[in-house]
Amino acid sequence: MTDTPRPSFRRIVFKPSGEALAGEGGTGLDGDTIEATAREIIDLRQNLDVDVAVVVGGGNFWRGREGSLRGMDATQSDHIGMLATVMNALALQDALEREGQETRVQSAIEMPRIAEAYIRRRAVRHLEKGRVVIFAAGTGNPFFTTDTAAALRAAEIDAEVLIKGTHSGVDGIYSADPRTDRAATKFEEISYMDVMTKDLKVMDTTAIAFCRENGIPIVVFDMSKEGSLRSIVQGGHEGTLVRD
Ligand code: UDP
Repeated sequence: MTDTPRPSFRRIVFKPSGEALAGEGGTGLDGDTIEATAREIIDLRQNLDVDVAVVVGGGNFWRGREGSLRGMDATQSDHIGMLATVMNALALQDALEREGQETRVQSAIEMPRIAEAYIRRRAVRHLEKGRVVIFAAGTGNPFFTTDTAAALRAAEIDAEVLIKGTHSGVDGIYSADPRTDRAATKFEEISYMDVMTKDLKVMDTTAIAFCRENGIPIVVFDMSKEGSLRSIVQGGHEGTLVRD
């Protein structure tokens, strides 16, 4: 850990992976895990007055390219992946609202019976009114990931940071996978370029390049440690900070 101060943040895009809403096995939805995630979000919104937008992943239900049915058309498979994120968004919305937090789900694929359509100005207005906005259905396009959706939404709503929560048990970005390589060391901070050139598989390259171009810092951290999210928005040294 270094003593270099980290910035604190007033408007964030938080990107929990799909697994962050699942139980031990990493698949489906788990009530306790979702509630724990909801409580951390509410703490930021209600106690620290942070504008919180959430982009949810879908990997706990479907992975467009790896886990899909063999031979399936790639675009079709990605459409299923995006619908998976909508299920997660609705589950998280429910958990937040049960705890008394007003929310709106905005979907990049229109489904007016269950969510608003994504409209940037409207999303910003919700944030200004103290609502948590959950962005569902990724970018609405196949061949992308929810990491890229999170980067895009962060730029659109002028978020100060993209915070990516994983559930891998790995608390940031390492020189190699610490679960298999004992010599792996953790980066307190690393540049966008280094993440890309060293091929550190923490986030997809499209998302990192996009954040670099648009000057959006990224923090990657392990969500299983309670209180980490709060610490990050207050400038604490959790996880790894990616910036120029
Ligand atoms: N997806 C997509 N376009 C997007 C976002 C997601 O096609 O803009 C699909 C893609 O198939 C992806 C799946 O949705 O594999 C689930 O998203 P992701 O893998 O990013 O979820 P996470 O790993 O964060 O759980």
